[in-house]
Amino acid sequence: MFDRNGNDNSNYNQMIVEEIKKVSPHVAELVEKEYLRQKNNVELIASENYCSEAVMAACGSCLSWKYAEGYPQAPTVRYSGNKGRYYGGTVNVDALEEYCCDLWRKVFNTDYHVNVQPHSGSQANFAAFKSVLEPGDTILGLSLSNGGHLTHGSPVNFSGSLYNVISYDVDEHGRIDMEDVRKKALEYKPKLILTGASAYARIIDFPAFAEIAKEVGAYFMVDMAHIAGLVAAGEHPTPFGYADIVTTTTHKTLRGPRGGLIFARTDLAKKVDSAVFPYSQGGPLCHIIAGKAVCAEEALKPEFKTYQHQVRLNCAALADEFTKMGYKVVTGGTDNHVFLLDLSDEEFSGKELQAACDEVGITLNKNTVPNEKRSPFQTSGVRIGTAPMTTRGYLEDDFRAVAHRIDDVVKELRAQKAAEAAEK
Ligand SMILES: *Cc1c(COP(=O)(O)O)cnc(C)c1O
Repeated sequence: MFDRNGNDNSNYNQMIVEEIKKVSPHVAELVEKEYLRQKNNVELIASENYCSEAVMAACGSCLSWKYAEGYPQAPTVRYSGNKGRYYGGTVNVDALEEYCCDLWRKVFNTDYHVNVQPHSGSQANFAAFKSVLEPGDTILGLSLSNGGHLTHGSPVNFSGSLYNVISYDVDEHGRIDMEDVRKKALEYKPKLILTGASAYARIIDFPAFAEIAKEVGAYFMVDMAHIAGLVAAGEHPTPFGYADIVTTTTHKTLRGPRGGLIFARTDLAKKVDSAVFPYSQGGPLCHIIAGKAVCAEEALKPEFKTYQHQVRLNCAALADEFTKMGYKVVTGGTDNHVFLLDLSDEEFSGKELQAACDEVGITLNKNTVPNEKRSPFQTSGVRIGTAPMTTRGYLEDDFRAVAHRIDDVVKELRAQKAAEAAEK
């Protein structure tokens, strides 16, 4: 992994590029180019991170060859309703999957059932919904434009076409409006209340959601894809003990391989497992399960807690520096690894700032802001996260310096827009 200056103390990339080159020089060249892009850029995309060579090695191991449809057979499996594989030769992957499940229960200090097979966060949500809902059932989730995820009910996603979606909103300060949640829950009687976000900077009040869900007899599901690393380290309150189902990705703040996990109250174990296999997936990605296990081992180390704490400190410092320079940070700050800059008053869009940052080696993404006036393709905001660069060793002062580099880009854009306006 490369450090803050782009120095790599491992020859891992070189090794794999050499192997690829033997078969496809073109693919090798693209991998090498991407490696250099990542090495030389300041990565601020809130959903990304760098995983260790150990995780990458697990994901590139011989386990990728093994078919293992079904679930481990061994008698030590505590909660799995659906036992047994449809293939022979699964003794090692059985042990691996069980070990992986046990590790993740330890990471989140929970005795919930866990399914480690979902190929991604969206797959995890698909199966989670399927385990407790019928098509046409009503779900209540955070709208995409206010920080939710596509899978939380967007019309262009399965969630919006299979289910009757009601959305709750954020208040005028950009915070989840618990009054609105309760009002809509009482009015629409959803079968499932969902929280979790892709672009939300504040602590989510899981106990308050759970209480509303209880009041209206709804299932309560938490999608902690973005904040799972913080939850594991105690830097964000846990949903365990409140939610019936918890889903996550493993590649964001958790810093593992691309993939998903589903946790559920043990009485839902069988339903969750069948919703993953055979309902929505075939054979598990055994190599990715190995990567998830290595990721969990890393998450159990004391350094992981230090890392997650630093992610938050860095994010607070970065948001603070922008605020000091007069920028509008949605909700006025951040409690986690991410925040949104609100550019509604600027002449340029989030898309234009994203492109201009790309040119100077700063990677971030455009994002809608609450009360968005531009289209979702243009947007009036950018989303900024500190998880990747914290992995590379950035501290508060480094992030404050990044804020000033982005400010320079903004000043240039303002000057450009002013010049364009003068020409007209
Ligand atoms: C990233 C994300 C997902 C989906 O993850 P994929 O692995 O890209 O499918 C789901 N929910 C939330 C809240 C996310 O931020």
